[in-house]
Amino acid sequence: MNLTERPVDVYQPKSFGLDMDFYLRAAASGQVHVQQCETCANFQHPPRFLCSACASKHLNWQAIQGAGTVYSWSLSHFTIDSAWTDSLPYATVVVESLEGVRFVGTFSGPQNDLTIGLPVNIRVESIGKNFAYIWFDSISETSKENG
Ligand SMILES: [Zn+2]
Repeated sequence: MNLTERPVDVYQPKSFGLDMDFYLRAAASGQVHVQQCETCANFQHPPRFLCSACASKHLNWQAIQGAGTVYSWSLSHFTIDSAWTDSLPYATVVVESLEGVRFVGTFSGPQNDLTIGLPVNIRVESIGKNFAYIWFDSISETSKENG
């Protein structure tokens, strides 16, 4: 058998799999969940089939505490998604949670407040049962709103 005769459907990765699990859990629960290893307690994101620290396959989903700090960010001045047109420019942010995992969301506060290391609350906005936005709210703005 040469390469052109090999069956192409031997390995079919799931089109959504673990990445989709991350968003479905957020949409269903209103909280961000990340994987934690049962063997070594390592938190990890994005989700994987094995622990990135010890290669254990025994992983559970755990709700995070819901706070972190800005690791990186970028302003978008153009979008092809009409849902975001009225929000331009918006800030796409990478936050490192208290658990030490980093993930992407959108900053809700004034963009002039954005700085590396800014403390933020991590908030899930569920849109139906299959979709969720992840928002990062400046803790200083949250404090002002709550008195
Ligand atoms: Zn582990």
